[in-house]
Amino acid sequence: MKTVTVLGATGSIGLSTLDVIGRHPDRFRVHGLSAHSRINQVFELAVRHRPAVIAVSTESDANTLRQRLASERIATEVLSGPRALDTIAEAPEVDLVMAAIVGAAGLPSALAAARAGKCILLANKESLVMAGDVFLAACRQGAATVLPIDSEHNAVFQCLPERKHAAGAPPGIRRILLTASGGPFRLASPDTIDTATPEQAVAHPRWSMGRKISVDSATMMNKGLELIEAHYLFGVPHSALEVVVHPQSIVHSMVEYVDGSVLAQLGNPDMRTPIAHALGFPERIESGVTPLDLAAVGRLDFEPPDLVRFPSLRLARTVLESGGGAACVLNAANEVSVAAFLERQVRFGDIARINEQVLNQLGSEHAGSDVEGVLDLDRRARECATQALARWA
Ligand code: NAD
Ligand code: MG
Repeated sequence: MKTVTVLGATGSIGLSTLDVIGRHPDRFRVHGLSAHSRINQVFELAVRHRPAVIAVSTESDANTLRQRLASERIATEVLSGPRALDTIAEAPEVDLVMAAIVGAAGLPSALAAARAGKCILLANKESLVMAGDVFLAACRQGAATVLPIDSEHNAVFQCLPERKHAAGAPPGIRRILLTASGGPFRLASPDTIDTATPEQAVAHPRWSMGRKISVDSATMMNKGLELIEAHYLFGVPHSALEVVVHPQSIVHSMVEYVDGSVLAQLGNPDMRTPIAHALGFPERIESGVTPLDLAAVGRLDFEPPDLVRFPSLRLARTVLESGGGAACVLNAANEVSVAAFLERQVRFGDIARINEQVLNQLGSEHAGSDVEGVLDLDRRARECATQALARWA
């Protein structure tokens, strides 16, 4: 029996994780859940999964939840405050931590899990993008293991020679090929893309995901963040990382070896596959995902990414090449510009323009070698992006 904490339990990845866990009551016990705002939803999850502890962001939500749990005679402890997420991530009884909070908000608790030596199921790619060296050093220091949840990185991990966890580059690899669906605007005209609405941007043709990552898929910034994530996870240089657009989202990524072999992982686009892979690792467990019917899919297409239509991917590539704190700056600017787009303060095309402006101002900064330096650079990049926004709106 493995004991699990799900950080970001009310999100798209969190709910898929609990769906898989619920299929295996003999294998998994839920210790901790976290929720930022959806208190009704986390209450329902508590009724179903009976966690020992729930962490929420505000004390007033904690009180509401405590009352509802007490009225149902559910003995779940409710925590709030700055240490609540760390507490449920580092609890001694916990084996697996699903890090599925969105954005930079997910970094401190992922770091807590790393320092505590947990097996981290890493969905929060921002931890690696913002603080790759700091996060991996914390994993080494705590003897934590990392299993990738991002479907592409999970696919790559499955195509690598067998080992206990993701970090580090095995020999014999020529390239890692990350597949991208191309998002909802793959074939749209530049004008249509520039003025796309939030509703159009979050309507992903293949994957059902949270709003932030859906917008990132539409700009293809998501693939850019994933290049950076792959660089840290697999220890390969940027020159060995490539993106190939594959609209059907059946091939989730590939590894090319020096002998010319290319290994791929295929499946229907459903995050429960990588989640079940990591939850059960090294065993294979049922996920509830519909089996792949290749004859019904019919064809698999591949094309190069269009860096003119999708400048965010070009920006992420330059960040990967320049190193230093640029990835942290880009991630912070992008969180601010995407939030402003979702609030209809700026146009879709402005997301990349704002990101580029912030990068021009702060992209050569270094975050240093500790988390305080990373969080300071993140804060300054957010301020810079907010100032840029004021000039735009
Ligand atoms: P989501 O928006 O659906 O859920 C986010 C979760 O984080 C929620 O539980 C929310 O309560 C919590 N949260 C948000 N802000 C918070 C804050 N300030 N403090 C504490 N908790 C907070 O997001 P998602 O789509 O599930 O994505 C989660 C992570 O997984 C992201 O890093 C994303 O890039 C990554 N990811 C998601 C998918 C996917 O298919 N959804 C695929 C690959 C990677
Ligand atoms: Mg992905």
